[in-house]
Amino acid sequence: MVGAGLSGAVIGRQLAEAGHDVSVIDARPHIAGNCHTERDEATGVMVHVYGPHIFHTDDTGVWDYVNRFAHFMPFRNRVKTTSQGKVFSLPINLHTINQFYGRTMRPCEARSFLEGEADTSISDPQSFEEQALRFVGRDLYEAFFEGYTVKQWGISPKELPASILKRLPVRFNYDDNYFFHRYQGMPKDGYTAMVEQILDHPKITVTLGERFERREAAGHDHVFYSGPLDEYFGCELGRLGYRTLDFERFEYEGDYQGCAVMNYGERDVPYTRITEHKHFSPWEEHETSVCYREFSRACEPGDIPYYPIRQIREKALLADYVDRARSERGVTFVGRLGTYRYLDMDVTIREALDTAAVFAQQGPATPAF
Ligand code: UDP
Repeated sequence: MVGAGLSGAVIGRQLAEAGHDVSVIDARPHIAGNCHTERDEATGVMVHVYGPHIFHTDDTGVWDYVNRFAHFMPFRNRVKTTSQGKVFSLPINLHTINQFYGRTMRPCEARSFLEGEADTSISDPQSFEEQALRFVGRDLYEAFFEGYTVKQWGISPKELPASILKRLPVRFNYDDNYFFHRYQGMPKDGYTAMVEQILDHPKITVTLGERFERREAAGHDHVFYSGPLDEYFGCELGRLGYRTLDFERFEYEGDYQGCAVMNYGERDVPYTRITEHKHFSPWEEHETSVCYREFSRACEPGDIPYYPIRQIREKALLADYVDRARSERGVTFVGRLGTYRYLDMDVTIREALDTAAVFAQQGPATPAF
């Protein structure tokens, strides 16, 4: 198992339970990949080291699975955004619309009002920008999406796929829950403790702080690779583009922003959001707060890859890597980095469970690129 994140841990666990001997290797000194959590030394607050991770799913099997390994506390992600010198509620809901336009509209009034704002000449939105203009119109797009998205992705929303915006709903009621999945929560002791439990099996050994070399594959019946797809092939065809994040940590006596995540829609604020980690654990008490300002930039060699940029150039390169990956014997490419997709945690776990089930019954599954 290359990678001790959710994919590696879940596949490893399932195969260990099916009787296989599993070794997990990760280049980083910790398990849990980018959902790694740890207690901040100075404040004792549980910190999402690689940015905010909120567990949400409609998949009962996945929810039951994570609850086997962690105690989940109720948690609703209620994101706010600063824009044009004011604070608004996200995702765009009736409160946002009424505040933004200084109105007191009812749901049906807001719906027809936004239809009036929307660019209805766009029948089949292809880009992020078209999707936004079609559903919320130019004013809301510029206030909440344009600046944030340029900062987050480093390119114009005209060049991004509509699928990225489809992650966010527009609601004509006062529901400000960022996600609408049936099951939502936060593991009480953090994600790393959960992944530790998943990996805690007599047939699993974990090696941290060691890079995987392709020649090591020879000593194993099969490799599940959740590292970056291009790096597996030594980036021979070129590098796939990723965005990476930098975090600027600061402390605050008391409550800095009153919520876990505050987005910044303005372009001239250089960061995309501030996470105040203690709000992820409202059942704990901490006097001093620790916050992370989050900056997004292009990923350079040696940086940690976060978001795959599925742009035209990347898609062509990806197709070449996928051809290679498909003809590589004894290796299955899995997870966000291994298949170069923007995956939520629950989808990653679902795919890992399915991959392991197929492997246990009939051998390597076809990877989902
Ligand atoms: N987005 C935005 N403004 C916001 C929040 C999100 O424009 O205030 C856009 C942005 O392009 C982002 C995408 O919507 O990449 C998906 O947002 P999500 O909150 O799902 O991003 P994540 O938490 O996965 O980084």
